[in-house]
Amino acid sequence: MQLEIRHLSKTYPNGVRALDDVSLSIPPGMFGLLGPNGAGKSSLMRTIATLQQPDTGTITLGDLDVLKSADAVRRLLGYLPQEFGLYPNLSAEMVLDHFATLKGLTESKARRRVVDALLEQVNLADARKKAVGGFSGGMKQRLGIAIALAGDPRLIIVDEPTAGLDPSERYRFLNLLAEIGQERIVILSTHIVDDVRELCPRMAIINRGRVVLAGEPTQVLAGV
Ligand code: ADP
Ligand code: ADP
Repeated sequence: MQLEIRHLSKTYPNGVRALDDVSLSIPPGMFGLLGPNGAGKSSLMRTIATLQQPDTGTITLGDLDVLKSADAVRRLLGYLPQEFGLYPNLSAEMVLDHFATLKGLTESKARRRVVDALLEQVNLADARKKAVGGFSGGMKQRLGIAIALAGDPRLIIVDEPTAGLDPSERYRFLNLLAEIGQERIVILSTHIVDDVRELCPRMAIINRGRVVLAGEPTQVLAGV
């Protein structure tokens, strides 16, 4: 299942043209979307996640018309925005239990199994009873990935996830992404060249709302 973005444009009411005829084909695996602040990355991510509408253009995921199927898309999608709020007093397992419920896991034993597996996968099993308000930035991001994974999505979108992480947490987080990217489309939006170079078999550079280059990092980043 491939994500196909065709001729996407978006001008905000203030006149900023955030997306300017963006076309991209995104196959399963890790896909890096690299660009400076203000390039249009978040606008593109929010559009794919059906959180905002473009002025023109189409997006398909396999047979699905993404822009006309918001409910279906949200079942297939895990979205980790740049900033996400968590009730600080809840424990990691309570947070995950809540999101697993939202994803339709109504039976408590099944939910327990899913929550346990997710905590293991993102390496937070030891912190499961701790209040998330006391989590480090890296722990919060890993919990965010567990939340995004709760419905076993086919497509995961991660917006600027390594900002503010120390080097060891960053390394750990990126490896987690590479692992989950083996079975799904994972779009990693970032302004950090090394995040993409190290992990993404395919990538694009976006600037001023336009795709400047797309392909394999060895070609795209030659000379960067
Ligand atoms: P990036 O994620 O690459 O930093 P954005 O998509 O957030 O880029 O922003 C692209 C451009 O659109 C920027 O100039 C930004 O200020 C502008 N922009 C983003 N969101 C809005 C909005 N809701 N209303 C008006 N302008 C916006
Ligand atoms: P990012 O760089 O990740 O897009 P921003 O700080 O640009 O983060 O955006 C944060 C929020 O503010 C988003 O919801 C975005 O739509 C909105 N926003 C960004 N730029 C503008 C703008 N120029 N006018 C109005 N809203 C904006």
